[in-house]
Amino acid sequence: MSKALVYLDNNATTGLAPEVLEAMLPFLKDQYGNPSSMYRFAGTAQEALNKARSQVAALLGAQPEEIVFTSCGTESDATAVYSALRARPEKKHFITTRVEHPAVLSLGQYLEKQGYTVTFLGVDNKGRISLDEFQRALNKETALVSMMYANNETGNIHPVEQVGALCREHGVPFHVDAVQAVGKIALNMAALPIDYLALSGHKLHAPKGIGALYVRRGAPFRPFLRGGHQERGRRAGTEAVPNVVALGAACALAAQHIEDENTTVRALRDELQKRLLAAIPESVVNGDPENRLPNTLNISFKYVEGEAILLMLDQLGICASSGSACTSGSLEPSHVLRAMGVPFTYAHGSIRFSLSRYTTRQEIDFVAESLPKVIDRLRAISPYRNLPDDAAPGDCAACSCSCSNG
Ligand SMILES: *Cc1c(COP(=O)(O)O)cnc(C)c1O
Repeated sequence: MSKALVYLDNNATTGLAPEVLEAMLPFLKDQYGNPSSMYRFAGTAQEALNKARSQVAALLGAQPEEIVFTSCGTESDATAVYSALRARPEKKHFITTRVEHPAVLSLGQYLEKQGYTVTFLGVDNKGRISLDEFQRALNKETALVSMMYANNETGNIHPVEQVGALCREHGVPFHVDAVQAVGKIALNMAALPIDYLALSGHKLHAPKGIGALYVRRGAPFRPFLRGGHQERGRRAGTEAVPNVVALGAACALAAQHIEDENTTVRALRDELQKRLLAAIPESVVNGDPENRLPNTLNISFKYVEGEAILLMLDQLGICASSGSACTSGSLEPSHVLRAMGVPFTYAHGSIRFSLSRYTTRQEIDFVAESLPKVIDRLRAISPYRNLPDDAAPGDCAACSCSCSNG
């Protein structure tokens, strides 16, 4: 096998689709007009913005006026959350979950310091939130609910339709971080009880540095960036025309390929899962196998360290990601796996593979053949073999890894 890259980390970022590059190139070269200018030369850029807005709206089943271009998913999330909270300053309760991406989780932690009461909904051992618990948390003081559509680590899909319906019943606005869902599952905003929805270009084969926020017509909005009149006064700053064009093209492509996610991509993911579970004893899948993004596999191997697996996979040209964070100086597994109560000896050895429509059968074969050997070698030298399942971070007398916990 050659050293070709096997890229299975598409939930972290994706490669630029060739069609997307083609679409944006003219706007990096000759078509540099500022869409706000009056002459015809700039009109080309303005038309390109309009087209891209329609393409993004079409993928979401939304109206073009409901799309605001931003710089990334994080900005979209922050814009939605601050917008909704500033529109109802007298309400001081915010509901989110313990398994959000840091883009929302850290907002919750910040708001708590600012005097908000924040409910971080927990999850069960498959990463599922409880609608009953959610319903009990909703109250007259609730200013906003923010919940991710699909989890970036496990791929779990949350019941946003039911949550949104309950929000509607209580007159509470609802924001959804759909950065991992857009392009992987079909969405129809016209039918979903969602007021704000965030997406990010680089998670769906557009470049980094472009995102969008869906804002339902009539939903309260307070601009985050003030200045010029771009985006109908909702987001000042000269539009990143090449990136916006790219996001439009990526959304059009995603719409075209949305069925492949459910068929080809899902079949390859399922095959990888089946082969790894069969070949590697004491391995378990993290998340909800019944309700997961079709491209994501989060799998734990007992007694081994995620980082060690990643390093050995990297030697083979395989890119994946791990849920634990030994490299950041702590033995704590990811906040998502911790919230799920995954036992320490498993959580520590978790690996996330995330596929895309560009993933090939040969790549899956290569990983399915390589990984069992990697795990065998690591287990032979594992310092964790003597640890009990319920060991906690800090109980690492038997551990000889190099992290700062000693
Ligand atoms: C990647 C990601 C984000 C952040 O998007 P950026 O464009 O990188 O800022 C937010 N939420 C989820 C679920 C993500 O996966």
